[in-house]
Amino acid sequence: MAENDGLIGVTVLGATGSVGMNTLDVLARHRDRYRVAALTAHTDSERLFACCREHRPELAVLGRAGDAAALQDRLREAGLDTQVLSGPEGLEAAARLPSADYVMAAIVGAAGLLPTLAAVRAGKRVMLANKEALVMTGRIFMDEVERCGAELLPIDSEHNAVFQCMPPRAAGADLEDVGVERILLTASGGPFRTTPLSELHAVTPEQACAHPNWVMGRKISVDSATMMNKGLEVIEACWLFRTTPERVRVVLHPQSTIHSMVEYVDGSILAHLATPDMRVPIAHALAWPGRMRSGAEPLDIVASGRLDFEEPDLERFPCLALAYRAIAAGGTATAVLNAANEVAVQSFLERRLPFTAIPQVIEATLDAVEFHAPDGVDAVLADDAQARTVAARMVARHASRAAP
Ligand code: NAD
Ligand code: MG
Repeated sequence: MAENDGLIGVTVLGATGSVGMNTLDVLARHRDRYRVAALTAHTDSERLFACCREHRPELAVLGRAGDAAALQDRLREAGLDTQVLSGPEGLEAAARLPSADYVMAAIVGAAGLLPTLAAVRAGKRVMLANKEALVMTGRIFMDEVERCGAELLPIDSEHNAVFQCMPPRAAGADLEDVGVERILLTASGGPFRTTPLSELHAVTPEQACAHPNWVMGRKISVDSATMMNKGLEVIEACWLFRTTPERVRVVLHPQSTIHSMVEYVDGSILAHLATPDMRVPIAHALAWPGRMRSGAEPLDIVASGRLDFEEPDLERFPCLALAYRAIAAGGTATAVLNAANEVAVQSFLERRLPFTAIPQVIEATLDAVEFHAPDGVDAVLADDAQARTVAARMVARHASRAAP
């Protein structure tokens, strides 16, 4: 603990988002254990102001310098001595802040990579929601965790579930060494699991963001509708649990009651069940290896009733197959996949690309960009940038073809 109040300092990167606000909700229930060290947001200064008033962090960060200066004035007027910084340097300062013991990495997309890595390099307990950071940098990220003595705890509900069902494992041991046969990653199938395929081209961002079981940010909601989210999660699972995609089986489970499972060589399957509420994995990662109340409704196992399982349909969800293709290609292919997906999803959200063209843009980008075995983060970012350029061109081409 960096300060003498006996409290654990927690920084929340992406505090104004869905995971960020859930984290603040859990922290507010345990003010006797945790102190909020730093909070960051991209543009939502109104919400960040409200969060600062409630949690009184030492540091707050916004994307633009002008917004940061305005927030600094408002906070001073409100009697708070929170310092406000901006831009990438501000984010890294928040991630490295000496008074923060834990860092919640809850920025969405590639924008979270450098601040999340900064938290890793500062040896923090890193609670990872920002799966894109790990998908982009894979081995580099995991090597930095090891080298810097950081603690990595998964927040993604599936990976948190797997973490809870896994046996302890010495560094370097394989899954087989501890009797694990495979990981069963559950997926709800999103809002279009049963929509006729012929109707998918016309679905709107509003329909795609209306997830049946979870309330989340817009990008991950679209990823859930295409099942790219599950593709990114397979990649995430391979790195977090040091295994290969052959040992990760995706299972459709529409109720989202089981958050994932671990299958053992003796035939045992351990499952993690809870209501679909991100406060469950967040409280787990904060309290680990202990337990504390999360604020989530307990799961009523009788009322929840059925547990259904299905094989995912790769014709309906081509993004899942593209993710497997990128894992098999290795190197920066998963960063290219992620970048192309971010561009395609943003274009869909801005109504410049139909839903069914999302996988087309990603596939065309994977075909066009050359992958490398990256020697560092800069090499990953170079391929990420190239993929964004190519994907944007594919989106524009699509729009010009579709024009009347
Ligand atoms: P969100 O869109 O609700 O929030 C994103 C946060 O990141 C906001 O605070 C925003 O201000 C900040 N942000 C956005 N762009 C930024 C930029 N360029 N620079 C700095 N900050 C920026 O997203 P979310 O749903 O909370 O998801 C956050 C991450 O957690 C994603 O990686 C997502 O995949 C993962 N995740 C989310 C959920 C969930 O339930 N929402 C579940 C599992 C994993
Ligand atoms: Mg998930």
